[in-house]
Amino acid sequence: MTSSRTVASWATVWCLLSAGALPAADLQWFEAVQAHMGTLVRIQLYAPDAGRAKAGFDVAFERIAQVDAALSDYRADSEASRLCVSAVGRPVHVGGDLFRVLAAALGVGEETGGAFDVTIGPVTVLWRQARLEHRLPDPAAIREALEHTGYRKVHLDAAAQTVALDQAGMRLDFGAIGKGYAADAALEALADLGIRRALVAASGDLAIGDPPPGRRGWTVGIDGPGGGADGFTRRLDLCNAAVSTSGPREQNLVAGGVKYSHIVDPATGTGLTQAATVAVVAHRGIDADAWSTALSVLGRERGMPLIEGHGGMAALFTTGAGAAESRGWRALGCRSR
Ligand code: ADP
Ligand code: MG
Repeated sequence: MTSSRTVASWATVWCLLSAGALPAADLQWFEAVQAHMGTLVRIQLYAPDAGRAKAGFDVAFERIAQVDAALSDYRADSEASRLCVSAVGRPVHVGGDLFRVLAAALGVGEETGGAFDVTIGPVTVLWRQARLEHRLPDPAAIREALEHTGYRKVHLDAAAQTVALDQAGMRLDFGAIGKGYAADAALEALADLGIRRALVAASGDLAIGDPPPGRRGWTVGIDGPGGGADGFTRRLDLCNAAVSTSGPREQNLVAGGVKYSHIVDPATGTGLTQAATVAVVAHRGIDADAWSTALSVLGRERGMPLIEGHGGMAALFTTGAGAAESRGWRALGCRSR
């Protein structure tokens, strides 16, 4: 793993597997943690024995490594990094993972008027460097970088599964969608082995399968400012769903007394300074991850109507002043995936 991002980063959503959960006689609870995608990925599952559990962990973590090899912008040899060179002005065939995530990312870009922008890479590179050097990026460099962004400069052909880019110097950044997708992919790999009672947590991006034996769902605590005595603003029992949290608490730059988030407003190229913590529950991790970031950029006023008009998703915005839920939030519970 070549990421410079902190391992064991802020786990905004924390799975609270109840110690009181009584596994069915033939199933036992297992957990494994590995470093992937610049963070820790935690998998919990129920399996008949340690051998089956290990087989599950092996395929699930291998699947996550595969997704990372396709999407990572920290790795010059990833499929996405190579694409930024090879697809300038001409269509290039790509693998299923890269195509699916790009298609989803461009869709969220359209729906959010560009608040979510998978081509934000040239700008986020400047902010990463700035965080390392504890100084703001050069405004001229930001302006220059913005010239090489814009999700409309990416062209997909679904039939041929190709991607073409309008410009040299573009850089795809899947930081706000890749972990959610990887969690989905790992959960599917487990289901293919018959392990359906499982939860995959890629830091704050969770994909959740069938519930633990004898329980309604996996109890998930949602972290955020102003949480209760246990630190959580909400607890949910979820199964066959996904939940992601985005917020300003991780990977900040403080300069001139102002805290800049690692989430960037693509309209200005500046790290968010007023961000709420946003949790999104969706059927799939790919959507929960992308939308929690997108809603952070949009803010509650612009974001709430968008998420409420969107079937199958719900959001919780939390600031020091309190929490606001979208209309669908209270109806959340177990679903069929
Ligand atoms: P985390 O990675 O901490 O879970 P997010 O899912 O919100 O948090 O992703 C943040 C990352 O997404 C940033 O580090 C950056 O790489 C990328 N990013 C920042 N701003 C945007 C944006 N407006 N649209 C898409 N991706 C973004
Ligand atoms: Mg995200």
